[in-house]
Amino acid sequence: MSELLALPWHEARAEVSPREYLDACLDAIAARDGAIRAFLHVNRDAAGDGLPIAVKDNIVTTDMPTTCASRILSGFRSPFDATVISRLRAQNAAIVGKTNLDEFAMGSSTEHSAFGVTRNPWNLDCVAGGSSGGSAAAVAARMVPAALGSETGGSVRQPAALCGVVGVKPTYGRVSRYGLVAFASGLDQIGVVTKTVRESADVLGMIAGHDPMDSTSSTHPVDDYASELEEGVRGLRFGVVREAIEQLTGEVRENFDAALAVLRGAGAAVEEVSVPSISYAIAVYYIVANAEASANLSRFDGIRYGHRSSSARTLEDVYADSRAEGFGAEVKRRIMLGTFALSSGYYDAYYGRAQRVRARLRHDFSEAFRKFDFLLTPTTPEPAFPVGAKTGDPLSMYLSDIFTAPANLVGIPAIAVPSGFARNGLPLSLQIMAPHFAEKAMFRAAAAYERETQFWREKR
Ligand code: GLN
Repeated sequence: MSELLALPWHEARAEVSPREYLDACLDAIAARDGAIRAFLHVNRDAAGDGLPIAVKDNIVTTDMPTTCASRILSGFRSPFDATVISRLRAQNAAIVGKTNLDEFAMGSSTEHSAFGVTRNPWNLDCVAGGSSGGSAAAVAARMVPAALGSETGGSVRQPAALCGVVGVKPTYGRVSRYGLVAFASGLDQIGVVTKTVRESADVLGMIAGHDPMDSTSSTHPVDDYASELEEGVRGLRFGVVREAIEQLTGEVRENFDAALAVLRGAGAAVEEVSVPSISYAIAVYYIVANAEASANLSRFDGIRYGHRSSSARTLEDVYADSRAEGFGAEVKRRIMLGTFALSSGYYDAYYGRAQRVRARLRHDFSEAFRKFDFLLTPTTPEPAFPVGAKTGDPLSMYLSDIFTAPANLVGIPAIAVPSGFARNGLPLSLQIMAPHFAEKAMFRAAAAYERETQFWREKR
């Protein structure tokens, strides 16, 4: 049965009945998730003749709890399904479970979950990345063919990279955010994790499109993402972001250079391009994201959802104590940083300035896309790190997103594709960024690279 789950979904479904495939997923979860802990909830009664899929636990579902990996949402069950869930159900998908994450999607390692750490299937002593670490590990361990995650600054691509699977962040507005618990509303997007590029193209096609319930969702028509996957990259132009590669060392650099050689060998034009403001992306991201988070998380007040402090005597204490007891340390750090960045006297110096640099970043990217069809960086500056290595040093944890956060700030789509292995056996990843709504071309480029390299076939 494990052989079946090693196949891409579109191949496996030709081999067995939908029920047999779904049972293989549920059996794999029962056998493997004890060691990996990718799931917070499993629905053993899940049904559906279509795609079995796992969903990050910050996307609401009526038939399972939604915790955001936070104690403050303990006991919460949504009265409605997120739009992506309704769409998947309408296409007979089986929602097999909810996956672990950093609390409220704040983190890069899934160590900030209130319900335990998710382990990397390639090395159980290492993190799976985050915040969609459960989704990435579930796919990497071949427990499900696909999972949904969410992206604010890299939370689908970074764990996908660390777990050796494909991760996609669509254009801002491409997928409805209705029912995705908000972190930073101007950056958040739902994304997809799968083994192969073709599976990601198929799943994005199932969930993309306009939704009247999300005022930021786009009316741009949804392309047939899988229709040009075989076309190759001959004549396409790839820009290598100079400011990113200047920071690379050792085997990440060697691996990235090897990926460029593969694209050149397939007929692509690959040249360096400068995106000057990209070096400020992490600083801008952590101001904008935390500012928006501090506002979004004010709804968790002990009254409307989840945990309420039992010791509180006054209304003020209900708010303060419920939040003090319900939120973990990293979430509290974000709320304090964000509140500070928005406070009077500091607003212009931090939030206002960050928004101006963000506009500069958008400008620099649109300049680069005048000359190039795609922009390239590694997905992450290093492979998966040991559990505990960065939890005492938030800044080094934040730097995990150095190559992924720019796409969120600019709103463009980006994909992480497996690019081989470090000497310690852990996966490395290539990031391909594309202009707004150019997902179809992005999948085509990623599929060409994947076809030449086939790293996804490697066994863990
Ligand atoms: N790791 C980043 C953060 O901690 C990104 C998180 C995300 O994309 N949700 O904010």
